[in-house]
Amino acid sequence: MTLHADYDPDNIFAKILRGDMPSVKVFEDDIALAFMDVFPQSDGHTLVIPKQVQARNFLDMPSEALGAYMDRVQNVARAVEKALQPDGLVVTQFNGAPAGQTVFHLHFHIIPRWESRSLAGHASGQMAEIGYLEEIANKIRPFAE
Ligand code: 5GP
Repeated sequence: MTLHADYDPDNIFAKILRGDMPSVKVFEDDIALAFMDVFPQSDGHTLVIPKQVQARNFLDMPSEALGAYMDRVQNVARAVEKALQPDGLVVTQFNGAPAGQTVFHLHFHIIPRWESRSLAGHASGQMAEIGYLEEIANKIRPFAE
């Protein structure tokens, strides 16, 4: 079962952390990296991943590293809210493929919601233009520092 397996150091987010794959970053320190989801479910869909741990999911995350990581998740969620002023904000994560997880390095999704706008599908559809993601990231970054 994908809920219990070895960490794959070649997963997409590990490659992004190593700089082997590009990403549109909004925040980074020694604890976490936040970047725009390339298949955004709404404008401003941001992912926050922990650094220096090989955690596939929430269950794997060493508890002594959790507090600092969750602090970054909240910091980025606040930045997204301040920058984009949505009506609501979904903060979520999935554990194991049957639960909807598609990339096996722990991450929280921050998904802004507007009352009048529908939500795109999860990890599907057309890849967003980098220029469009950069435009939104430029708004979020000053609030995430
Ligand atoms: P999960 O399905 O594991 O909860 O979430 C993985 C997320 O990563 C999905 O929302 C998907 O759109 C996003 N994603 C997949 N590949 C890439 C990529 O190469 N770069 C970025 N920035 N996001 C990705």
